[in-house]
Amino acid sequence: MRFSAFRLIREGLTGNRGWKPLWRDPAPGPAYDHIIVGGGGHGLATAYYLAARYGMRRIAVLEKGWLGGGNVGRNTTIIRSNYMLPGNQPFYEFSLKLWEGLEQEINFNAMVSQRGVLNLYHSDAQRDAYRRRGNAMILSGADARLLGREDVRRMAPFLDFDNARFPIRGGLLQPRGGTVRHDAVAWGYARAADRLGVDIIQNCEVTGFRIARGRVEGVETSRGYIAAPSVGVAVAGASSQVMAMAGMRLPIESHVLQAFVSEALKPAIPGVITFGAGHFYVSQSDKGGLVFGGDIDGYNSYARRGNLPVVEDVAEGGMAVMPMIGRARLLRMWGGIVDMSMDGSPIIDRTPVEGLFLNAGWCYGGFKATPASGHVFAHLIATGQPHATASAYRLDRFERGLVIDEKGMGAQPNLH
Ligand SMILES: Cc1cc2nc3c(=O)[nH]c(=O)nc-3n(C[C@H](O)[C@H](O)[C@H](O)COP(=O)(O)OP(=O)(O)OC[C@H]3O[C@@H](n4cnc5c(N)ncnc54)[C@H](O)[C@@H]3O)c2cc1C
Repeated sequence: MRFSAFRLIREGLTGNRGWKPLWRDPAPGPAYDHIIVGGGGHGLATAYYLAARYGMRRIAVLEKGWLGGGNVGRNTTIIRSNYMLPGNQPFYEFSLKLWEGLEQEINFNAMVSQRGVLNLYHSDAQRDAYRRRGNAMILSGADARLLGREDVRRMAPFLDFDNARFPIRGGLLQPRGGTVRHDAVAWGYARAADRLGVDIIQNCEVTGFRIARGRVEGVETSRGYIAAPSVGVAVAGASSQVMAMAGMRLPIESHVLQAFVSEALKPAIPGVITFGAGHFYVSQSDKGGLVFGGDIDGYNSYARRGNLPVVEDVAEGGMAVMPMIGRARLLRMWGGIVDMSMDGSPIIDRTPVEGLFLNAGWCYGGFKATPASGHVFAHLIATGQPHATASAYRLDRFERGLVIDEKGMGAQPNLH
């Protein structure tokens, strides 16, 4: 069933009786050519591109809960490619370009909204660092504009420009950045993959790997053993737990990251705005709620609820840059478990176990990477070789010292 304006009108006139479920609900088969563990954005995108770009068949996605229940449905929906380092910038720009054509490709409205991402700067040194970042972005084909204080004031007059501690001097704007409706990304990829024959199996937790003579043979699950010579793991916050079942210890810590939504307000915020002197960022949803967040909770955890000190820290950041937020009432808040790598960059690589592939370490920022991550992970699984834009995301970079550290601050997860 394809979605179109014609279809919408026809269903509207005939009592909406013709709509079908977006994907099938198959029982797990005994064997597949490729298994993807984790039905988040990255796992579903990988399955879709394996089938759509690399012509692979007999693919299953195994999800322990329900689609959209993980970070893909918990994030604050921001997409951007404002990275600086050569290992990162081309990859995230590749992702942004995929977002730009995604809805047509998968025939699903994911509400891709390129309203701009503005990073505020508060000092001359920070302006110079942003200028350098903007130039690096432009050199690799992305878009960036350095704005002065008055440009920012025209865009967002409600900001506190003269805060005694953090006066706003300007900002780095990426006009093509923006937001995408997060759970629609999971549903859209799931539907598109299902149409290509991928089995999407929910309520199916992977509980172990069967490995013989250094090769993966299949996975143990809560619904029985499933054989496959190729297994890709994309389980975000559960990466360390799942890979431990294959005998691997990852350079990843799992932390809870919280998000917040206020009551609905009149349209006020043009795009995404980030505070440059603390951890706070905000956008406004189509329903009017302010969607905002900040730092991770400092301790390792697999509990998807956060602690009050971080709530206070986020609220302080909001008040420092945008005092009017103090009048808004908080409607909802929640947490997701993020897979914080030790340099803030992801891992997309083979593992020492033949046939077992890893996609992890997305920290706070894996949603924007969803299309590219799925694309390059599918490339790796289908060809055995890393995709050109993801060749730096090697697992052994921590051992070899070739880290990709955008902040240049070392192995401190809360700084990425
Ligand atoms: C509050 C918050 C805000 C964020 N904001 C942004 C943002 O604005 N922009 C951005 O780019 N990124 C953001 N992120 C990060 C982004 O959401 C994640 O990096 C990304 O979604 C991770 O990839 P995923 O979608 O595949 O993860 P998930 O959706 O978490 O998918 C992993 C799946 O694996 C499943 N799983 C785990 N263990 C097993 C098992 N044993 N067997 C089977 N399945 C298993 C889980 O149930 C889950 O569904 C945010 C994250 C959070 C928590």
